[in-house]
Amino acid sequence: MLKWTHWDLPFFDASHAALARELDDWQQRQAALAPELEALPLPAQCRRLAAELGQAGLLRYAVPTLQGDARPVLDLRSACMVREALSYGSALADFVFSMQGIGAAPLWLHGSAALRQRFLDGCRQGQQIAAFALTQPEGGSDVAATATTATRRGDVYVLDGAKTYISNGGIADYYVIVARSEQVPGAKGLSAFLVDAGSPGLIIDTSLEIVAPHPLATLHLRHCEVPAAHLLGAPGDGFKVAMSVLDIFRSSVGAAAVGIARRALDETVARMGSRSLFGKPMAEMDTVRMRAADMALDMEAAALLVYRAAWLRDVRQATITREAAMAKLGGTEAAFRVVDSAVQLFGALGITQGCVIEQLFRDVRPMRIYEGASEIQKLIIGRKVLGAQR
Ligand SMILES: Cc1cc2nc3c(=O)[nH]c(=O)nc-3n(C[C@H](O)[C@H](O)[C@H](O)COP(=O)(O)OP(=O)(O)OC[C@H]3O[C@@H](n4cnc5c(N)ncnc54)[C@H](O)[C@@H]3O)c2cc1C
Repeated sequence: MLKWTHWDLPFFDASHAALARELDDWQQRQAALAPELEALPLPAQCRRLAAELGQAGLLRYAVPTLQGDARPVLDLRSACMVREALSYGSALADFVFSMQGIGAAPLWLHGSAALRQRFLDGCRQGQQIAAFALTQPEGGSDVAATATTATRRGDVYVLDGAKTYISNGGIADYYVIVARSEQVPGAKGLSAFLVDAGSPGLIIDTSLEIVAPHPLATLHLRHCEVPAAHLLGAPGDGFKVAMSVLDIFRSSVGAAAVGIARRALDETVARMGSRSLFGKPMAEMDTVRMRAADMALDMEAAALLVYRAAWLRDVRQATITREAAMAKLGGTEAAFRVVDSAVQLFGALGITQGCVIEQLFRDVRPMRIYEGASEIQKLIIGRKVLGAQR
């Protein structure tokens, strides 16, 4: 179980100490639930996890509560804490939590009151499943080149094209889809739409399989009609919608990575204490101690990047594009190094199916690719760093 030890850091307040207790309860519940969940097919596991997280009240940290007409407020430090704790125990639980957040955010940030009322309570309770579809088959990193089109015809938009690697594809109740609606090249021509899962012309291919399985699909849009009232923000706001969501949730990818790194380090500490080689426990070998020091340093530095970004957003209400990119890049790259070190110290066992380290190795790898690959985060940071020099 993940133990919180850093409450005296200035990033946190009493509400976070209370959340830590909620997370302790959840981790115990999750351990008890695991055998039952593992017997279910993957889509059913995700739906069940969403319902359980909703019932435990944890999804309110991903999908904030509506407050009349005012836009709700998401406490990013809490969302990061939840992701760190969930990913420590189960990357799938973390995936479910994060997708509810990413799929719901375009609605509470940019959706009409009618759309917010229709979906957000259900998302927060884990009864409605959300998805966010940005990536094109021609290239996910180049969002401005989005080729899927949305053509206005009276009071509907007609969507044509394809989206791929869409998490929750096949189990979502709705998809937020970014498409080109305006006669303007690049990012300014994009708009975001909410598309109901049952819409005619939305064809979902769930045959994608990756190293860390979760529901994932390619969406084909063939003359798919979407009510104009399902536009999120104004026509041409699609890039802004997508970036506003990613700016919030990017830091939390770093938090999930820290949870994975923490688990890898804890498992390594236990293994190094019990495994003896050349007549002594591995924990007593200097080279192992040095590697453990590198792992701990990497992980703690990543945690500081994550909670700094979250604190700046929550408390200073700052724009955190640069800090969120650093949290995502620093967190996921550090976690990859930490898990890779754990694999090395575990030897053959570390790459054996059924060993938790092998699972962590598969869970951590995709994190350096999705929600902006590491190179994209570097470009964002570099632009900000050099911009600040002028
Ligand atoms: C597990 C998982 C879940 C996902 N879920 C979703 C989802 O729910 N919704 C969604 O819309 N998308 C999702 N994606 C897609 C993800 O966002 C894309 O994979 C990502 O944006 C990269 O796009 P790509 O795979 O097409 O790689 P490409 O854009 O083809 O890039 C390939 C590689 O090129 C390098 N690169 C790219 N651009 C540059 C550059 N400017 N300079 C230098 N190097 C560069 C990077 O190393 C990158 O990994 C998911 C992906 C994965 C793996």
